[in-house]
Amino acid sequence: MDNARSQELFEMAKMIIPGGVNSPVRAFGPVGLKPPFILKAKGEKIFDADGNRYIDYVGSWGPMILGHARAEVVEAVKKAAEDGSSYGAPTEKEVVLAQMICDAVPSVEMVRMVNSGTEAVMSAVRLARAYTGRDAIVKFEGCYHGHWDGLLVKAGSGALTMGVPNSPGVPSDYVKSTVTACYNDCLEIQEIFADIGSRIAAVIVEPVAGNMGLVPPDIEFLKLLRRLTAEHGAVLIFDEVITGFRVSYGGAQEYYGVLPDITTLGKIIGGGMPVGAYGGRRDIMKLVSPSGPVYQAGTLSGNPVAMAAGIKTLEILRDNPSIYSETDKKAERLEKAFNSSAERYEIPLHVNRVGSALSPFFTRQPVSDFKTAVKSDTRQFAGYFGEMLRNGIYLPPSQFETMFVSHAHTEAGIKTTEQAIGAAFLRLKET
Ligand code: PMP
Repeated sequence: MDNARSQELFEMAKMIIPGGVNSPVRAFGPVGLKPPFILKAKGEKIFDADGNRYIDYVGSWGPMILGHARAEVVEAVKKAAEDGSSYGAPTEKEVVLAQMICDAVPSVEMVRMVNSGTEAVMSAVRLARAYTGRDAIVKFEGCYHGHWDGLLVKAGSGALTMGVPNSPGVPSDYVKSTVTACYNDCLEIQEIFADIGSRIAAVIVEPVAGNMGLVPPDIEFLKLLRRLTAEHGAVLIFDEVITGFRVSYGGAQEYYGVLPDITTLGKIIGGGMPVGAYGGRRDIMKLVSPSGPVYQAGTLSGNPVAMAAGIKTLEILRDNPSIYSETDKKAERLEKAFNSSAERYEIPLHVNRVGSALSPFFTRQPVSDFKTAVKSDTRQFAGYFGEMLRNGIYLPPSQFETMFVSHAHTEAGIKTTEQAIGAAFLRLKET
């Protein structure tokens, strides 16, 4: 596989962009390889600068549930760009997308558009703090909520580990009101509420964790979070940046039937353009400026080109509900291929899947939280990843990321992937 041009671009990029990339995991660090530079994408495939093509299971880290460059979405974006790409003034498209989100996501009565998932989370936490008049926020080990200072907290141990920043540049004072707890641990969160319940402004959780690899929630855990936050006057925030419009049209809250107070969204609602949103109960959302005192703004928020891509993407999903069951079936095929190859070649493996999102963990034990996720053999993951890439399968380059299957994945593409999994696992067995 020729990769001379990608390598050349990477060297050039490293001189002028930190690490050569605009988001760290793109640099392929965890698998010790150099990334292909992407030229274009269509349907299930992406094409790199050296003319290689790959079947893509990154899907821009989640947004591309319909596959790349879906004709209707491209058309909507073109048309919107022709009408001017930004006005800094309200538009009908923002009303349309907001209405679609309120119609789809059970707990969302009002919604504010922003430009990324990070921004959505940052704004949601500010709002929760304003609403409750409290400071403390609880997050779970292994959940990622964007790169905002307040939630960039090292996964701590013990129930009441007050936050320690895990990036230089985050003042320790800034995260001292961030409490970390163990995902899916019902006992620990009860202890935390018993200790400091009256100080907790919000609990923020990925209702299906997607950033330690894919880890499904214990439904009792989600229900408990709902009950404890309600009892103690805290706000429950579901970070549905990944799960929104992915695990079902109404997101994880519809899928599991547990409703938060505030929801953060991103990825799919922008159809591949930069968009985020936060929404929720009307009485809470009404506090946001200018209807209330909680300040939050954005020059490009509600951008018409981004709104057009989001509206078209959601329209297609809404009007074709079988997209979900069809896409889930494709992911199920891959889950089976992983399990049968692992069995055949005696590779320790545990696959987690929710709908069209999945992660093969190179460990025999079930993965239900951060501690069990990090038991995975990352060296074996790297070997598998490199083999898959050589065979034309483009995967998230880390054991602790999630594969996304799109509706555009074809029968031929899935078959090729199944074969590649078999070949990669055979190789793992031999080495
Ligand atoms: N929340 C979750 C659950 C995410 O997965 C991500 C990004 N992968 C974010 C927030 C941050 O979104 P963004 O990268 O758009 O800032």
